[in-house]
Amino acid sequence: MNFKKLWGALAVVLALMLAVTGCGSRGSVAGGGGGGSADPSTSLVGISMPTQTSERWIADGKNVEESLKKLGYKTDLQFANDDIPTQVSQIENMLTKGAKALIIAAIDGTTLTDVLAKAKEQNVKVVAYDRLINGTPNVDYYTTFDNYQVGVQQATSLLTGLGLVDASGKQVSGKGPFNVELFAGSPDDNNAGFFWNGAMDTLKPYLDSGALTVPSGQTNFEQAAILRWQAPVAQKRMEDLLTSAYSSGTKLHGVLSPYDGLSIGIISALTSTGGYAKGSLPVVTGQDAEKGSVKSIIAGEQYSTIFKDTRQLGSQAVKMVDAVLKGQEPEVNDTETYNNKVKVVPAYLLKSVIITKDNYQKELIDSGYYTAADVK
Ligand code: BGC
Repeated sequence: MNFKKLWGALAVVLALMLAVTGCGSRGSVAGGGGGGSADPSTSLVGISMPTQTSERWIADGKNVEESLKKLGYKTDLQFANDDIPTQVSQIENMLTKGAKALIIAAIDGTTLTDVLAKAKEQNVKVVAYDRLINGTPNVDYYTTFDNYQVGVQQATSLLTGLGLVDASGKQVSGKGPFNVELFAGSPDDNNAGFFWNGAMDTLKPYLDSGALTVPSGQTNFEQAAILRWQAPVAQKRMEDLLTSAYSSGTKLHGVLSPYDGLSIGIISALTSTGGYAKGSLPVVTGQDAEKGSVKSIIAGEQYSTIFKDTRQLGSQAVKMVDAVLKGQEPEVNDTETYNNKVKVVPAYLLKSVIITKDNYQKELIDSGYYTAADVK
C-alpha cells in the first residue's frame, strides 16, 4: 500500500518535471535565437535602405525606424548610397552589433547571399522590404506593393492621358495613332520586371492594333532599362531617342516612365533637345508621388505618378518583424507570386493608386501624406 502511494507520488513529481522541461524546450524552439525574444528593448533591428537620392527611401527609412522605436525596439538605420559593397558591409555591421532581425531594401537583389548566410548562422530573421532578395533561402518574409499592378496602372494612366481610354478604363474609338517611347527600371531590381510586364501587357493590344507606335523601335526591356534608376541616364537616353527618331519633325505623344526620378530627366530632355514647351509636353508617367513630381503634375508638366503609401509599407514590415521576434506567424496575403529562384517568399502586398492633377488633393493631402505646403 505505502509502496503504491510512493510510486504514485513519484509519478506526479516526474510528470511535473516533464511538464516544466517541456515548457522550457517549447519556449526555446519558438525563440530559436533570433525569434522568441519577447522583450523589444533588448532587440536590435537593422534597417538597410538603398539610397538617399530619392525621397521615398528616406521616408521609408524614417517610417520604419519610428514605428520600431514606438514598439520599444532598438534600431540601426543605414543608407547604402546605391553601392552594393557598402550595403553588404552595413548589413555585416548590423550582424556584428547583434541585430535580431533585418529589414532590407536591396540595391541588387542578387548580391546578399553571403551576408544572409551569416545572418542565418546567427538565426537573424530577414524581411525583404519593397524589393525581393533573390537567390537565397535566407529571406523569411517580403512586403511590397502589387508590383505587376503598379505597371498596369502606369500604362493605364499613359492610355488615359493620351485619350485612348476613358476614366472608367474603356477604350475610346477613333483615337490615335500615338507615338510613344518606353522606359524601364533597373534590371538588377526585381520590381523592374514586374512593372514592365504589367505595363507591356496593358499596352500590347494598342501596340498590336497600331493605335500606339514606338518610332525608335526600342520595345525590349533590355533596351528600355535604366541601371540603378539614374535620372541622368534616362535623360541621356531620351535625348538620344529624340535625336535619332524624332529629328525630322515626328511628334512624340507619350512616355512610359516607371519612376518619378526618371520622369524628371525625361522631361528635361523633352524641353531641351525635344523643344517641347512645358505646357504642351507629351504624357509622361511616373511612380512614387515624390514631392517634385507632384508639383510638376500640379503645374501640368508630368501627367501622372503612382502613389505607394510608404507609411503602410513601413508599418507592414514592422508588424512582420515584431511577430517573428515574438515567435508568431506574420500575416501574409500572397504565397505564390514572389519566387526568388530558391523559394517562394511569403509576402504581404499593398495596393497603389494612380495620381493625376484630378485626385492628388484627396489621395496625398487629405490623407495627410503631404501637407499642401509640401507640394506648393
Ligand atoms: C521601387 C519603386 C522606386 C524604384 C526606384 C523600386 O524598387 O519599388 O517605388 O520608384 O525602386 O527607387
